[in-house]
Amino acid sequence: MARTDVIVLGAGIVGTSIALHLVKRGVAVALVDRGGPGQGTSYGNTGIIEGNTIFPQAFPSDWLALLRIALKRAPEANYHLTLVPKVAPWLLAFRAASRPERLIETAELMRPFFARAAAEHEALIAEAGAERYLRRTGWLKLYRGDKSFAAQARERDMAARLGIANVPLDGEAARALEPSLAPVFKHAVHWTGAMSVSNPLALTRAYAARFAALGGITLQGDARSLHRAEPHWRVDTASGPLDAGDVVVALGPWAPDLLDPLGITLPLAVKRGYHRHFSARGNAALSRPILDAENGYCLTPMEQGIRLTTGAEFAARDAAPTPVQFDRLLPAAHELFPLGEPVEAEPWLGARPCFADSRPVIGRAPRQRGLWLAYGHGHWGLTLGPATGRLIAEMITGATPFCDPAPYGAERFTH
Ligand SMILES: Cc1cc2nc3c(=O)[nH]c(=O)nc-3n(C[C@H](O)[C@H](O)[C@H](O)COP(=O)(O)OP(=O)(O)OC[C@H]3O[C@@H](n4cnc5c(N)ncnc54)[C@H](O)[C@@H]3O)c2cc1C
Repeated sequence: MARTDVIVLGAGIVGTSIALHLVKRGVAVALVDRGGPGQGTSYGNTGIIEGNTIFPQAFPSDWLALLRIALKRAPEANYHLTLVPKVAPWLLAFRAASRPERLIETAELMRPFFARAAAEHEALIAEAGAERYLRRTGWLKLYRGDKSFAAQARERDMAARLGIANVPLDGEAARALEPSLAPVFKHAVHWTGAMSVSNPLALTRAYAARFAALGGITLQGDARSLHRAEPHWRVDTASGPLDAGDVVVALGPWAPDLLDPLGITLPLAVKRGYHRHFSARGNAALSRPILDAENGYCLTPMEQGIRLTTGAEFAARDAAPTPVQFDRLLPAAHELFPLGEPVEAEPWLGARPCFADSRPVIGRAPRQRGLWLAYGHGHWGLTLGPATGRLIAEMITGATPFCDPAPYGAERFTH
C-alpha cells in the first residue's frame, strides 16, 4: 500500500500553497485533484492580492440597493429565486454579520491573517520563479458620485488606524495613473499596498511546479473516495489507493461533497461570479485592477485580455450559468474603458466558497482524527492561499502558528 505523511485534497491556490508549505518543512505530501492545479475557482478570479482588505463584503444596508437587487436590476448582484428559501438562514446570518460593529470585529479578527498575505505570496513567487506575473501597482477603486465616496470614509478611517496605505485622488489624478479611463468618475482611492497577478492559473501552476521540484507528488483522484482504513485515511487515485495519517480538505466550494457524508456539515454558501476577457481598443491599457464601485464590477489587465469580473450571484453551485449581470453592467464598463470584442464565446463561471461571517475555516475537523480543513475563503482565497498554507503547515507540524488560528476554527459553528 502506497503511503505518505499528508494528503492534500484540492489543488486550487489554497491546497497547492498548503502542499508547498508542508513539503518545505520536510513532510512527504501528495496533492490530489480530479483535474490539474488551479483549474477550479482559482482559475478565474480578479487577480488581486489584497493585504489591505479591511471590511468584508457586506449585506446591503441601503434599502434602495436592496430593492434594486430584489428587482434584478442591480449590476453588482443577482440571485436565483428557487435558491432563496434554502439559503435564507445563511443570508440572515450574513446580514447579522454585516452590522457595523460586527464588521469591525471581523476586520480585527482577520487582520493578522491579511497582514501576512502579501509577504507570503512574495516569498512563494520568488522561489517559484513567478515574478513575471506579479504587479506591485496597487488597486484603484473609482467612485462616480460623492455619496458612494463618502460612504467609504469609515473604511479609510480604520485604514488610517491600522496604518494601511491609501491615497484618495480626484478624477484627474486617478486618470494620470490610468490615462485610458474616461472621466466618468469624481473620486478614487489608490490602495497602494495591494498587488495583482496577470494570470492566476499560471501562478498556481508555478507553485505546483515548485512543490514537485521539492519532491511533492501530484495525483489525479476523486476526493470523495476518502475513507478510514485504520489506522490511516485512504484515497483512491489514478495511481492506486494512497494512505496517510493526515488529510487536508482544501476543496473550496466542493468541500461539502466530501464533508457532509462524513457528518461534518458547516454552513457554507457560494457567491457565484463570472468573468469575460475583452480586447482593448486602440492603444488603451490598464496597469492595475480597477473597481467601478457603484456598478460592482472589476477590470483587470490579464495575459488573456482585460478581465471583467462580476459581483455575487446567489444560486446553487451547479445550476446552469445565468450571466445576466453582464447585460446590466456592460454599458457602464464601455463608458469607463474602451473595451473591444470579447475574447471567449461564453463567460467563465466560478463559485466563491463563503461562510456568513466572512472568515474561512482553517484547522482540525471536528470529531475526525487526522482530518484538517482549509476552505471557505470567499472573496479572498487568492490573497490568503499562501498565508493559509503557512498556518496549516505550522499547525500540522506542531510549530507555533504565526497567528492565533482560533478565529478560523470550525468550532465556531459546532458549539
Ligand atoms: C469572479 C471572482 C473573482 C475573485 N477575485 C478574487 C481576487 O481578486 N482576489 C482574491 O484573493 N480572491 C478572489 N476570488 C476568490 C478566490 O478565487 C477563491 O476564494 C479561491 O480561488 C478559492 O481557492 P480554493 O483553492 O479554496 O478553491 P478552488 O480553486 O476551487 O480549488 C478547489 C479544487 O478542488 C478540486 N476538486 C473539487 N472537487 C473534487 C473532487 N471530488 N475530487 C478531487 N478534486 C476536487 C477542484 O478541481 C479544484 O481544483 C474571486 C472569486 C471569483 C469567483
